This record gives sequence, structure tokens and C-alpha cells, in this order.
Amino acid sequence: MELGLRYALDRKQFGKALVAFPRVADKLALMAVEIMIARQLTYYSAWQKDHDRRCDLEAGMAKLLGARVAWSAADNALQIHGGNGFALEYAISRVLCDARILNIFEGAAEIQAQVIARRLLG
Ligand SMILES: Cc1cc2nc3c(=O)[nH]c(=O)nc-3n(C[C@H](O)[C@H](O)[C@H](O)COP(=O)(O)OP(=O)(O)OC[C@H]3O[C@@H](n4cnc5c(N)ncnc54)[C@H](O)[C@@H]3O)c2cc1C
Repeated sequence: MELGLRYALDRKQFGKALVAFPRVADKLALMAVEIMIARQLTYYSAWQKDHDRRCDLEAGMAKLLGARVAWSAADNALQIHGGNGFALEYAISRVLCDARILNIFEGAAEIQAQVIARRLLG
């Protein structure tokens, strides 16, 4: 989000900064909302753990959602970069690549979903 925001502020097209275009600003707004939700869910599951309460449901949700939000935010931030986002010279191309692994390691998305579903059905 920070990379997307900085680029949207710096890059001028049609006489104004990219962030002045609503479809660009909307991407940043949604990123901020989704990151906030993922962060709060993560803090909540950590709080449960700190209080010796079971937290596999919440932690599974936090991991599943956090990985999706990371991928979505990286993809939108790259989109804001336009063609430059594809270039290795811009950090966002690497961020998108790195974000992809979050749905795989430390518990793949399918496994987090299984943990959540098992608790819901149990
Ligand atoms: C950069 C990187 C760092 C890593 N670091 C570590 C580390 O520090 N420590 C560590 O222990 N491991 C680490 N790993 C391994 C990582 O945890 C595994 O890659 C991950 O668990 C997926 O296992 P796999 O690659 O064997 O895929 P597979 O088990 O072959 O899975 C392939 C696909 O099938 C799905 N799948 C598999 N089994 C099921 C099932 N029962 N139900 C539903 N879907 C299923 C998976 O979700 C995935 O989508 C790392 C991997 C990478 C790429």
C-alpha cells in the first residue's frame, strides 16, 4: 500500500497526480480497509493466545485472510504503477512475487480453510 500510495502521489498523468483519479484512490482506500481488517483479526487471535484461550479458528482466519489481502494489495499497487510495475527496477514487481508465497507456506490456504471448516462443523 505504501508503494502504491507513493507512486500515485508522485506520478503525474493528464496534468494531475494519479491519486486524483477516483479509480486509483479507490484501490488505495480498499487496501487500507482490508489491511486494517487483517491486522485486527491477527491482533485478536494473538490476544486470545496471550490469555491462554484456544485460537486456532481465529489464527486460521487471520492467516487465510492476511495472505489474500497481501496478494490483492500487491496486485492493486502494481496496477497503480502501470507498465512500470512490471519492471524489475520498481520494488512492487518483487512485492507481488513475494506476496504469492503467503498462500502456500506456513499453512497453505486450503489447510487454513480446513481448520476453519472443521471448527465450524464441530
Ligand atoms: C520460500 C519457502 C519457504 C519455506 N519455508 C519453510 C520452513 O521454514 N519450514 C518448513 O517446514 N517448510 C517451509 N516451506 C515449505 C512449505 O511449508 C510447503 O511448500 C507448503 O507446506 C506446501 O507443501 P508442498 O510444497 O509440499 O505442496 P503440496 O503438499 O504438494 O501441496 C500442493 C497443493 O495441494 C494442496 N494440498 C495438499 N494437501 C492437501 C490437503 N490435505 N487438503 C487440501 N489441499 C491440499 C496444497 O494446499 C497446495 O495448494 C517453505 C516453502 C517455500 C516455497
